[in-house]
Amino acid sequence: MLGDDGTDTGTPLHHLLAIVHSSTTSNVGAALDAVHAALQARGDARGLYGHHRSAAAIGVHRLEVVYRCPLARCAGRAADEVHDDPPRCALTGRELLRERLS
Ligand SMILES: [Zn+2]
Repeated sequence: MLGDDGTDTGTPLHHLLAIVHSSTTSNVGAALDAVHAALQARGDARGLYGHHRSAAAIGVHRLEVVYRCPLARCAGRAADEVHDDPPRCALTGRELLRERLS
């Protein structure tokens, strides 16, 4: 990822991976935000969140992002089940609400 493979201990990506691989689930959102900001700082205007990268692509197996139905008519979808942009509710056609669980 832009020359950052997570092995440099000073990078936001390394910090994120350290959190993900530890037992704690706290601060994952903040670490993701830091990676997002770092990507943007290096010229990737859309950053981490602007791409449809799966969590597995960066070694994160359980990225806690969900898309919630705005009308609670369906169960929503997990991030890896979303392939349309913007993701829409299969029942109502409404745009799903992106949320990060942390
Ligand atoms: Zn729905």
